[in-house]
Amino acid sequence: MLCGGMTDALSIARDLVRCPSVTPADAGALGVLENILKTAGFEVHRVTFGEPGTADIDNLYARIGSSGPHLTFAGHTDVVPPGDESAWSHGAFSGEVRDGFLYGRGAVDMKGGIACSVAAVLQYLADHDGKPKGSISFLITGDEEDLSVNGTIKLLHWAAARGEKFDHCVLGEPSNVETLGDCIKVGRRGSQSGTLYVDGIQGHVAYPHRAANPVPDIARLIVALSDEPLDHGSAQFQASNLEFTSVDVGNAASNVIPGQARAKFNIRFNDLHSQATLRELVEQRLAKVAGNRIRARIAWEPSNANVFVTKPGAFTDLAVAAIEEVTGRRPELSTSGGTSDARFISSYCPVIEFGLVGQTMHQIDERTPLSDLEKLTRVYRGILDRYFV
Ligand SMILES: [Zn+2]
Repeated sequence: MLCGGMTDALSIARDLVRCPSVTPADAGALGVLENILKTAGFEVHRVTFGEPGTADIDNLYARIGSSGPHLTFAGHTDVVPPGDESAWSHGAFSGEVRDGFLYGRGAVDMKGGIACSVAAVLQYLADHDGKPKGSISFLITGDEEDLSVNGTIKLLHWAAARGEKFDHCVLGEPSNVETLGDCIKVGRRGSQSGTLYVDGIQGHVAYPHRAANPVPDIARLIVALSDEPLDHGSAQFQASNLEFTSVDVGNAASNVIPGQARAKFNIRFNDLHSQATLRELVEQRLAKVAGNRIRARIAWEPSNANVFVTKPGAFTDLAVAAIEEVTGRRPELSTSGGTSDARFISSYCPVIEFGLVGQTMHQIDERTPLSDLEKLTRVYRGILDRYFV
């Protein structure tokens, strides 16, 4: 046992939960990890990022070993606000253990997951004379739950500038839906928003021949773009989908033909497209339907949510084997769900998400069974044992 604190998953998780690190506050959370990892022989860097209009955010990068392969565990120590604290059965930042559960904001999302990865790595090092057969690192940010601009995206960039190269990443987000072992997230659809503009000629409704009404025209374009499928799904993803979310002409008068109509839409797209090819495809279809008569254009929103997928292979296989050994379940390789920092990590190395069960995340009485903390630690240990052979 290391001095200066207990290093089992529950003790680390409790120490983290007791830091009220609601984004952008760190409240000592990264210091908890820094102490443990330094004691275990890691080289630890604390890096602060900021930019105008946002709060400065603390981040941590820690590495042990200098050769490959390099496995990195990623995560975030920031949490969402507790909401009405008096509604909690036990204090939101108390780290209370009751009836086999650890209570507190972040228990599931994702201080519990980080604690399990740290505990597993410490066990692994203790069994291997303190040295991995390669390199192990931790990429931990304090900016995931809110803006996600001074966190993982900048930390990865900072690490790359130092010459850090990652071979594989495990992100400990709560990936399981019902039970530990039911789901590994291996990818996400991309997201791209835009606005369709149709220009007409404003005029009096009594003299329509002197005007050009954009309303019927935008309706035609909306129907055409909505009706034609973007694809029929791929091996690992459901079909891409273009969805219109609002139509507006900004016209309060009943005797005026409006001069312009606009419609907002969002596309969730799979790995048959990139942002660039997707935009091109939609614009080609628009041009075809609009012809020479309708004056239409699309303004695309900037987006940092590109599609990514980690293809099934040796890395996903060893994770599945480790999960199956501990939980008795063969996890589904899923690409569903919302966004996470995996979208940034995927530009640097293959990444999978596996952590605790997400059921109570962001809720009053967020909690995890202690048995899940113990099992997840064993899963991560199983991944380490299979990775460094
Ligand atoms: Zn999270």
